[in-house]
Amino acid sequence: MIAEKLKTVLENIEAAKTKRTGDDNPKDAAVTLVAVTKNHDVEAMREAIDAGVTIVGENRVQEAVKKHETLERDVSWHLIGHLQTNKVKQAVRLFDLIHSIDSEHLLTAVDEAAGKIHKVQDILIQVNLAKEDSKFGIYQEDLPFLIKKADAMKNVHLVGLMCIAPNYENVEECHPLFHKMHDIFEGLKMLPLMNSEMKYLSMGMTHDYEIAVAEGANIVRVGTAIFGPRQY
Ligand SMILES: *Cc1c(COP(=O)(O)O)cnc(C)c1O
Repeated sequence: MIAEKLKTVLENIEAAKTKRTGDDNPKDAAVTLVAVTKNHDVEAMREAIDAGVTIVGENRVQEAVKKHETLERDVSWHLIGHLQTNKVKQAVRLFDLIHSIDSEHLLTAVDEAAGKIHKVQDILIQVNLAKEDSKFGIYQEDLPFLIKKADAMKNVHLVGLMCIAPNYENVEECHPLFHKMHDIFEGLKMLPLMNSEMKYLSMGMTHDYEIAVAEGANIVRVGTAIFGPRQY
């Protein structure tokens, strides 16, 4: 069941790539799938991993730590949800990529925690492009500041941007937002950065990942389309 749904998602991603336009959005550029396993149990996670999933996405540190203890599978862990400073130490131990850096305060905490365990932590900066009160992430105009801060740090490695689209009534309305996000991402590649690499643009979830891929996302975070609805 999970294997079939996963196959469909991967096929849809490939189909969405053919809709890309523009020289800076090549049709053959790879897309990484993060299977979002929050609120799903380790059995479902194992099923997905055995079907080919290599990256799992969790939004709560505590839940991820607990699952990590019993999963018994080799997989890469991504943190996609908001990170509180009191969870940074645990997060840095577990996650290969943190998608949700959204303040200088958090950035500094991650840099310090990573330094203590001699790790260089890969991070993305979360952007709240639509300036929704209900969402985390920094505003577009604050990006250069936070990018320069991250670029100067020794124990973090900035590798791109993440965003979550608003819940539009019509999902097609995501097109301009994702398009703009891709433009911003491409524009930032021109910044004179020393340690950072603008290589990942994480955007798109179950209802909008095909649009995100068409507009240039190279990481998508998909849960429901693979695992079915979450039980809360
Ligand atoms: C839950 C979540 C997802 C996945 O959502 P689905 O609609 O189930 O695909 C993606 N990104 C973030 C940040 C999430 O919290």
